[in-house]
Amino acid sequence: MSYKNIETKCIQSGYEPKNGEPRVIPIVQSTTFKYETSEAMGALFDLEAAGFFYTRLANPTLDAVEKKIADLEGGVGAMLTSSGQAATLSVVTNICKAGDHVICSSAVYGGTFNLFAKTLVDLGIDCTFVAADVTEEELNNSFKENTKLVFTESVTNPSLDVADVEMFAKCAHAHGVPLCVDNTFPTPINFRPIEWGADIVVHSTSKYMDGHAVALGGVVVDSGNFDWTNGKFPMLSTPDETYHGVVYTEQFGKAAFITKARTHIMRDMGPQMSPMNGFLLNLGLETLFLRIPRHCENAMKVAEFLESNDKIEWVNYPSLKSSKYYDRVQKYMPNGTCGVVSFGVKGGRKAAEKLMASLKLAAIVTHVADARTCCLHPASSTHRQMTDEQLEAAGISPSMIRFSVGIENAEDIIADLKQAIDNV
Ligand SMILES: *Cc1c(COP(=O)(O)O)cnc(C)c1O
Repeated sequence: MSYKNIETKCIQSGYEPKNGEPRVIPIVQSTTFKYETSEAMGALFDLEAAGFFYTRLANPTLDAVEKKIADLEGGVGAMLTSSGQAATLSVVTNICKAGDHVICSSAVYGGTFNLFAKTLVDLGIDCTFVAADVTEEELNNSFKENTKLVFTESVTNPSLDVADVEMFAKCAHAHGVPLCVDNTFPTPINFRPIEWGADIVVHSTSKYMDGHAVALGGVVVDSGNFDWTNGKFPMLSTPDETYHGVVYTEQFGKAAFITKARTHIMRDMGPQMSPMNGFLLNLGLETLFLRIPRHCENAMKVAEFLESNDKIEWVNYPSLKSSKYYDRVQKYMPNGTCGVVSFGVKGGRKAAEKLMASLKLAAIVTHVADARTCCLHPASSTHRQMTDEQLEAAGISPSMIRFSVGIENAEDIIADLKQAIDNV
């Protein structure tokens, strides 16, 4: 069944129990699956029949949740992973090898930045970083002969830059390479990158999708729109000898990328999500469309309160009129961006630390984007491995506080902030 509206997709998509089957997606806590004959199992190994044989590759619980997320983002298929980091790594390794080059926004999440700046470089995959608000000309000039992928976040964590996704897609396609967008912060409720030309979407499902900070996870979604037969991606368009010479683009058509991600990358590297985490993620997805608007409404109230407070030096929230991204937000995500607001308190790093320590409702945690209000000082935590220049390129100042507004009553969140600011 397919549904028109995203609210219904959140609740219904991905799982259709037959007569007498459990109404709720069951947790299939089994690594392995039984077959009557070796031939029946052999057909699965040859990718000739669909089915389950080992949870590292696929599992019924995860399969249902993957179908739901693919539907939410408007893709042809999805693959869950053990974390958001594993999702991004799976995308890159699925189409890049030593000697290749990728282009990445410098304002991406700290872990992603390190992955591109160091770990992948050590593996021979080079990266050029571009500013989050890069111009079309600058972006076009960053491509090389061996460029295989462009990567950005739709709304960056934590600097809250909003990417011009349509322009990124246009440049990537002009050079025959796909665009991958990390859509963790807006979620498909507020923004669907595929509708603006993105070819692959990734999420850290550990954030809003789960929404309760209980299950680490990630997901890769394939739009099915990219033409992998343009000569740059032989791993998809020529025989794969490790799978009896299958040519992914011929056998799987629009689902070539996501099929290879599973049969090759998941098979060999194994960053699979656990069925239990898949079940928990699905509970989060069922209320995503209720939570996200509330996060945004509360964040707007918090941002406006901060903007009106004398002790606050600056406030960054892309939905604010004062944001340099206001017009872009109206174009791409008019219903809201995310629940995260960042700000700087007058008095620099010391004042920021004092303010954080005075908060009572808002907890200091590394996490972001769940139902409970929480906050973080990136310069001394998530981004502490970065040099001052890298911090600046990522749009992070030493006094910056990342404030993840939860779905409590906004009045209580603001009262907590107010007493903490008064304490500085
Ligand atoms: C948290 C985060 C990640 C990494 O995800 P994990 O689930 O922690 O591995 C990647 N991208 C963004 C935007 C994030 O916020």
